Amino acid sequence: MDLGITGRKAIICASSKGLGKACAMTLAGDGVHVFINGRNAAILEKTAQEIREATGSEVTTVACDVTTPEGRAKILAACPDPDILINNAGGPPTGNFRDWDRDTWIAALDSNMLTPIELIKSVVDGMIERKFGRIVNITSGAVKAPINVLGLSNGARSGLTGFCAGVARTTVKDNVTINGLLPGPFETDRIAEVIAGEAKAKGISEEDARIYRMATNPAGRFGRPEEFGAACGWLCSANAGFVTGQNILIDGGNYPGVL
Ligand code: NAP
Repeated sequence: MDLGITGRKAIICASSKGLGKACAMTLAGDGVHVFINGRNAAILEKTAQEIREATGSEVTTVACDVTTPEGRAKILAACPDPDILINNAGGPPTGNFRDWDRDTWIAALDSNMLTPIELIKSVVDGMIERKFGRIVNITSGAVKAPINVLGLSNGARSGLTGFCAGVARTTVKDNVTINGLLPGPFETDRIAEVIAGEAKAKGISEEDARIYRMATNPAGRFGRPEEFGAACGWLCSANAGFVTGQNILIDGGNYPGVL
């Protein structure tokens, strides 16, 4: 599909692996100059080379922790005027809310709520001036159907989602959209972490927890990162300017509700 965004610039946070990498691959595949990010510089460079070879597009790496002010400043120095911003970071740890103190909560909020809000604040006015902007927050299916062991994620991501629901209605008249993409279970390193947490909470093996998660998903499988990347590409496309403030689940039909 021609997304109509060739020559645009995109910051894709936390994109050396997994879902962020898949988004970068899709956007680069449409001729977007992608600025990719991760903390491990060696893995980031390897991913950059993979994207260059697969797409022929320009790829700039920014190795840093996006959840820190210094990290965000480094990303914005490399790309001060992005047309596209994909907000992403690692997910918070699984666990029991009785074990979480204030510092644990602040870390989750910093990572999965305040970091994307800070980045939106930094780039949205430039997008409005230039009359084009696509902001996509990678959140979680847990925003719609909370997962007990992911309480930190449920809380922080719901805060971001509520905040963006308001702002998204103020920017769309200038062709700047803000939407959430809500992954269900996808084959990435993160799902292994979540499954380990679920296995521990249920007192079952990780293998059994994985089989259970797959068997109870209507698709009978986990998602492939490229399926997620394709949805991100559509939300960033030139013709998606009438879609804003939405939260789109990509979960194999796992969420049982009509809407
Ligand atoms: P992943 O495969 O583990 O990849 C995470 C990526 O983020 C890596 O490139 C990692 O690189 C980077 N990263 C993590 N923390 C970072 C930080 N502080 N600063 C910069 N880069 C950072 O995870 P994923 O499955 O793609 O998940 C992406 C997001 O979707 C997460 O928030 C996750 O919780 C959420 N999610 C995933 C699923 C799923 O099934 N996969 C389901 C629901 C929600 P470095 O480690 O080198 O920094």
